[in-house]
Formats: sequence, C-alpha cells, structure tokens
Amino acid sequence: MVITGGSKGIGRACCLRFAKEGARIVFVHCDPDEIAAHETLGVLEKAGVEAKARKLDISSFSAVEEFFQEVLREFHRVDVLVNNAGITRDALLMRMSEDQWDQALLVNLKGVFNCTKAAIRSMVKERRGRIINISSVVGQIGNIGQSNYAASKAGIIGFTKSVARELAGRGITVNAVAPGFINTEMTERLPEKVKETFLAQIPMGRIGDPEEVAETVYWLASIGANYLTGQVIHVNGGLYM
Ligand code: NAD
Repeated sequence: MVITGGSKGIGRACCLRFAKEGARIVFVHCDPDEIAAHETLGVLEKAGVEAKARKLDISSFSAVEEFFQEVLREFHRVDVLVNNAGITRDALLMRMSEDQWDQALLVNLKGVFNCTKAAIRSMVKERRGRIINISSVVGQIGNIGQSNYAASKAGIIGFTKSVARELAGRGITVNAVAPGFINTEMTERLPEKVKETFLAQIPMGRIGDPEEVAETVYWLASIGANYLTGQVIHVNGGLYM
C-alpha cells in the first residue's frame, strides 16, 4: 500500500494498522526533517513488514509521477492508496493571503489528484484497487478561519464520488473518511479556546485517537468493504451526523 503523510498522526496510525496485516508499505511525507519518518519506519520494521519512506511534495505533479513509476518498478502494483497528507493554513477570509489559499488547495486537493491519477494506472491494469481519501468534518460543516481547508476537504468528497463512478466497473473502490477532531500535531497547534469549543460539540465528549481513524481506513481496504464505493465515512464521535 502507498500512503501519503505516513510519518505521523493519522498517517502513521494507518501504517501501523496495515502493518498488523503484513502489508508492504511505502509512505511519503514532507516534514522538514526525517525524525518522525525514521521513527515510523523503525516501528514498521520492528513489526516485521517491508516498509519504505520517501520525502515527496505531493503537490508536484511530475515528482508524484516519478515516485509512482519507482514504486511500480519495485513492487509491480499498488493495491491500496491512502491519500492522507494534509495541511492547514488558517486565517479568516478577510485576512487570508493568496498564498495561504493556494498552499491548502495545492497540497490537500491537487495532491489527491496527483497521487490518484498516478496510482490508478496499475489498478486499472490489475482490475482491482482501493483508494481511501482523508477528508474532514470541516469539509461538511465548515469552520471559521478554515475556508481554504474546508474547500479543499469538500473538494475531496466531490472528487471521491466522481472517481468512484469512473472506476467502479474496473474493480476499484474509492471512498473517503471524514475525521472529526483527532489528537495529532495538526490539532495540537489549535488555540485552547478553539479546542474547547470543538470539544463541547462532540456528543461522545472526547477527542478521537488516530488509531480510531486508522481502523476505519483499514476496514475500507479490507474484504469487509467489498461492495462499498463513493461513500464518506464519518469518524467524529457524533460531532456531525
Ligand atoms: P499531521 O500534521 O500530524 O501529519 C501530516 C502528514 O502529512 C505528515 O506526514 C506530513 O509530512 C504530510 N504532508 C504535509 N504536507 C505534505 C506534502 N506537501 N506532501 C507530502 N506529505 C505532506 O496531520 P494529521 O492530523 O495526522 O492529519 C492527517 C489527515 O487527516 C490530513 O489530511 C488532515 O487534513 C486530516 N484530518 C485531520 C484531523 C485532525 O483532527 N487531526 C481532522 C480531520 C481531518
């Protein structure tokens, strides 16, 4: 399986969940250093699975193309693609710069396009494949200060449904997971007041763990989700129903 943003947070939890089943894992990340990626690789190697990490900016169409060619040369096919990498560039619209808008859309939405387009060639040939895109509750309900992020995550849902229709006849399923408020570096950065406001709206009364999202991602790649495509699965403690 190939996963973007596998070095930490939800992506790392997905790597570990797939490793439990013995999957061969290639993950990419774009961290300024290799610390988190090395840590994740270490845990995967300990789990006894074949794993590779690559630093790659998924917003670059040509770099993504090249990367998937390398993956195919080495592993011959891609069974599962998890489009997980994402960033926030928060600001109220009145103060949002063009660069903040572009960055969020380039990584979160164009990155999904780049990776999916590059991965489906082998899936179509094999007549099987699973694509799981990580959206967000914010893509459904919006959020103050996140118009760029919300647009990118809502865009992922439209993309998921369209590509699911295009590929359904080829044995490939395409689904999205929309996490709520999950305990990772991305949410650690939020101001305490924003965290408290979110928490107050979660019927289950707690923030989610990356492992709880990873379980759903793994399930979507498993035989249990054979007849499921074009869906958005919400993992959010009831924050949005
Ligand atoms: P995180 O910040 O902990 O990790 C992000 C990962 O994405 C890192 O591995 C990073 O290197 C990678 N990445 C960032 N930009 C990249 C780029 N240009 N190219 C390749 N890799 C890149 O994030 P997280 O909280 O684990 O979030 C994972 C996904 O889940 C994101 O798409 C995020 O939008 C989504 N999400 C998170 C939450 C949450 O509460 N944490 C909620 C809803 C959705």
